[in-house]
Amino acid sequence: MPNYNILISDGLDEHGQSILRTSATLNYHEKLSADDLLKVIADYEALIVRGQTRVTAAVMDVAGKLKVIGRAGVGVDNIDLEAAKTHNITVVNAPSSTTVAVAELAFGLLLAVAREIPRAEATMKQGQWLKKEFEGVELSGKTLGIVGFGRIGMDVSKRAAAFGMNVITYDPNVSEHELEHGNAEPVSLQDLFAWSDFISLHLPLNVQTRDLIGRQAFSQMKNGVRIISTARGGIIDEAALLEALNSGKVAGAALDVFEKEPPGLTELVAHPRVIATPHIGAQTVEAQLRAAEDIASEVLSALQGKPLRWKVA
Ligand code: NAD
Repeated sequence: MPNYNILISDGLDEHGQSILRTSATLNYHEKLSADDLLKVIADYEALIVRGQTRVTAAVMDVAGKLKVIGRAGVGVDNIDLEAAKTHNITVVNAPSSTTVAVAELAFGLLLAVAREIPRAEATMKQGQWLKKEFEGVELSGKTLGIVGFGRIGMDVSKRAAAFGMNVITYDPNVSEHELEHGNAEPVSLQDLFAWSDFISLHLPLNVQTRDLIGRQAFSQMKNGVRIISTARGGIIDEAALLEALNSGKVAGAALDVFEKEPPGLTELVAHPRVIATPHIGAQTVEAQLRAAEDIASEVLSALQGKPLRWKVA
């Protein structure tokens, strides 16, 4: 049995590490700096990352032995896929491992933004009782617009249906069958903006979707719309969102992801009608365990030339 050299950056659940150790020697890091990654990558046949480590063309240029990059999670926007193709490096991810965790967080944020739960709680911790200040809105009977009807978007739509919401969705790539299965009515992006009381984003960040939710999009939305993003920073134009919050166009926003992470205490994060969480969508015990198991077995399959379930590039 060959003994592969595998480099792990961004951490990996212990169970995934034990699967890898059956066939490999591991070099484990919670987070490697870009410089350190460049210095050491030449020794490894596989690299496993989460969302923090950027795997650039420069890294791949010096990674002479690298056969596979594994992303323990879904989004691969931190990996240069074109460079991976050029260098004949396989990229795999663990796309279904975090679906439930992110869908549940999105739903938690939906409820939190509708009832201002974090701000109400914070005032209690200051010894206050501001009952009259916290008049929220109900989800039941409202329209939820889901942008991106893949695994997570579909899971959110099922939960929304159980709360009595009307669900509409825009996704250029899904079939009628998938839409029916997820209880959502397909609409154009313009209609989704015009009809939604709440908008939840579940699409990837790429050149087409960067700044998709910007000034023009906000101008097409209902007054008092509430926005939830657990997708990726960069899909919402944060300067435009801040303007829309200040003008009252957007009544509230709940954001798990930011253009720059960590964002620090920006005006947007500090805004009283913004709920901000530090990119915790996939941070559940169950999701991390599944992501680690899935990526460990997929990376070993790639190294051993076995069929792959989740090849991205
Ligand atoms: P998925 O691939 O199953 O679904 C994404 C959907 O978006 C696809 O159906 C695709 O057709 C659609 N899409 C692509 N471009 C679009 C566009 N321009 N407009 C509308 N829809 C478009 O992915 P998923 O597993 O559902 O994950 C969705 C996103 O959630 C990921 O891309 C990732 O960035 C994000 N995510 C965030 C966290 C977190 O911690 N907050 C964790 C996991 C995933």
